[in-house]
Amino acid sequence: VNLHALAHRPRIVIAGGGVAGLEALMALKALLDGTVEVELLAPEVEFTYRPIAVAEPFGLGEARRHELGRIAADHGAHYRQAALASVDAEALTADTADGARIPFDYLVVATGAAPSVGIEGALPFGGSADSEALGRLLDRAREGGVRRLAFAAPTGVAWMLPLYELALFSAAWTRRCGLDRLELVLVTPEERPLEAFGAAASREAERLLSEAGIALFTGTDPRRFEHDRLIVADGAIAVDAAIALPRLVGRPVAGLPHDEHGFIATDPHGAIRDVRHVYAAGDGTAFPIKQGGLAAQQADAVAAAIAAQLGAITHPEPFRPVLRGLLLTGAEPRYLRAASERSEVSFRPLWWPPGKIAGRYLTPYLARPHDPELTRERFADRQAVELESPEQAAAEEREAGELLLALAEASARRGEHDFAIKCLDAAEDVSGPLPAERQSQRRAWEQRRA
Ligand SMILES: Cc1cc2nc3c(=O)[nH]c(=O)nc-3n(C[C@H](O)[C@H](O)[C@H](O)COP(=O)(O)OP(=O)(O)OC[C@H]3O[C@@H](n4cnc5c(N)ncnc54)[C@H](O)[C@@H]3O)c2cc1C
Repeated sequence: VNLHALAHRPRIVIAGGGVAGLEALMALKALLDGTVEVELLAPEVEFTYRPIAVAEPFGLGEARRHELGRIAADHGAHYRQAALASVDAEALTADTADGARIPFDYLVVATGAAPSVGIEGALPFGGSADSEALGRLLDRAREGGVRRLAFAAPTGVAWMLPLYELALFSAAWTRRCGLDRLELVLVTPEERPLEAFGAAASREAERLLSEAGIALFTGTDPRRFEHDRLIVADGAIAVDAAIALPRLVGRPVAGLPHDEHGFIATDPHGAIRDVRHVYAAGDGTAFPIKQGGLAAQQADAVAAAIAAQLGAITHPEPFRPVLRGLLLTGAEPRYLRAASERSEVSFRPLWWPPGKIAGRYLTPYLARPHDPELTRERFADRQAVELESPEQAAAEEREAGELLLALAEASARRGEHDFAIKCLDAAEDVSGPLPAERQSQRRAWEQRRA
């Protein structure tokens, strides 16, 4: 197909303004720039960068938000505030919840998953919306009302990183507050901690938990929390409170097939089985690990498949999962990577830019949002460096972080608030979530910029 010779530009509609939707938008721009019309539908006006939410209850970091309209415009697309309600795959039309009918040549469903109760009776933690409640629980612990606190994951949840981060942050917080009587336990159905990342990551997680004094129960299936115990498959663990990861369920769209949990089955190119011209990517698909980096890889496969359908490329890459995770620990973070039996852990970034959600296009963009030069920076994996100590890596990171903070302040003094904010963001990527006073500095600079 000569795309430039077509009478009308093919119209691609993306439903969902999360990780998969935005990565699809960016990948489509990279592959089909100017030859297609892209419309992004999402019910909310901002994209929220969720991974940092685990640091919020501890007064560190703050989930960052980015305007969807601006992101769409940066990629030559149109943003419409609307929710996809149903699809007529024969007629190639999508209906929104507010009654509009949108014709499409290709539709990308990236509507994510919804949290549901993971462990009955436990305090759920699924992101920023739960930060306040967790903060109140920590206050109770500080006052002595909680002596033993559990972090638990229900069976069927495969993305466990936030649970380990919450436990490690809590241990660091306990030390900072001098609460030597607060005991922490982590309860997981996994055979070994962080097992999705493979053996090297499990060893490192065991070491980190043990150093932090967190008791670990593996192969244990937590069922519900009652006022002084966590009921597990074959007994109970005495605790005063429990924090649990939510279980995720799909968000079925009328007119599209889904499994009994509401998830959409796709082929390795993201095509929905038996439905032409409609693709899906991200947490809403039936792939068992619901993770941002994987959502982005699925979105890349979808964009490539559509570009191939339109004749722009010949060999679309299928989805071949590589799991990349940045484990925040309350001190030096760990970079984890797993692909086909290989498991790597490093104190230094295993990919660049070193965002917590690793997406080929999304990560470079978020590292320098709205930068016209952004296409120049390419996402790339890096080799693990074995011979280094955490102290050495930490010292280098601290130095780099301090340099970036100094640069941020110097830029702000010159009135270059945009650049100052980018330096703050980069400092956060290098040294982990920034303390509250830096967050208020960012907000003040954002106001001046506006
Ligand atoms: C606390 C926490 C920490 C995490 N840490 C990490 C991490 O460190 N690394 C990592 O890779 N992943 C992490 N994740 C997981 C990651 O956030 C998700 O896997 C990722 O956001 C999934 O992307 P998605 O686009 O499929 O869904 P989402 O990002 O949830 O986006 C779905 C979008 O679709 C929209 N939508 C919903 N219904 C409709 C509709 N009917 N029509 C149109 N739009 C709709 C939603 O409003 C939203 O914009 C974490 C998650 C949590 C909660």
